[in-house]
Amino acid sequence: MTKNISVTLDVEDLRPSDQFEDRSKLMTEKVLDLFSEMNIRATIFVVGDVAKNHPEIINKAVKDGHEIGLHSHKHIPLQLLTPDEFEQELTGAKTLLQEISGQEINGFRAPTMSLTHKTRWAVPILKRVGFTYSSSVLPAKNPLYGWDGLPRHPFRWLNSVIEFPCPVTNILGFTIPYLGGAYFRLFPSIIRKMGVRRSSYGEVLWTYCHPWEFDPDEKYYQLENVGRSTSRIAWIGRKGMENKMRDFLKDASSQTLGDIASTMDSSQLEIVNAESPDNDKN
Ligand SMILES: [Zn+2]
Repeated sequence: MTKNISVTLDVEDLRPSDQFEDRSKLMTEKVLDLFSEMNIRATIFVVGDVAKNHPEIINKAVKDGHEIGLHSHKHIPLQLLTPDEFEQELTGAKTLLQEISGQEINGFRAPTMSLTHKTRWAVPILKRVGFTYSSSVLPAKNPLYGWDGLPRHPFRWLNSVIEFPCPVTNILGFTIPYLGGAYFRLFPSIIRKMGVRRSSYGEVLWTYCHPWEFDPDEKYYQLENVGRSTSRIAWIGRKGMENKMRDFLKDASSQTLGDIASTMDSSQLEIVNAESPDNDKN
């Protein structure tokens, strides 16, 4: 593969209750070891609550040279929060991550790409809380969380942060986030290679994965805030994930999203007004 693809990991605890075993620390450390083995620096987006319960995860990620970002306070999709709740939770979780990691936390990723036209109120909050970039939108039509009409290349929200939209490609009439999650885990690698080949020069490509995707031994439970079939899909293909990722990381980039954001001339980026009705094609 000729194009550089940055690596991101979303660290979260999706268990609906403590009845189920908490495997987030075990699995995150396993994935971090894989990154080290492959000499990859990544952006590790961590949920505030997980950081509080397992600060060792952050310590290990920092020691291994990774960038730490925030993946919300409790992994609640933005549409289920009020703007005030979101701002308060974000401020607290960002401070916590900074205290544990000793790093300035510059990057935010919304749970389940839930920054959409409906939750556009979050855009000015990201700037106010002190982030410099976000990677929280899926620039396509999607029943769960898409924001169709947004650019596929990095852009700057009007008076707010840089956005790295989730890489998408068109296959058989569908626009899919081919580089991460279930698409990465379940689709043959030819789809990924095709998507990368078709991507344009100005796109910033990144993959996203989750520690639980590497865990075939986790007992099944119904995920919150998604349907039963989406929940089932989360348990498929976990056995092959490690080898698939190992193979993929041979060609991946060690430039974190934070590295890219800090070296980018943001005055050259397209500016997008989240309030513009033109941006609501969903
Ligand atoms: Zn997540």
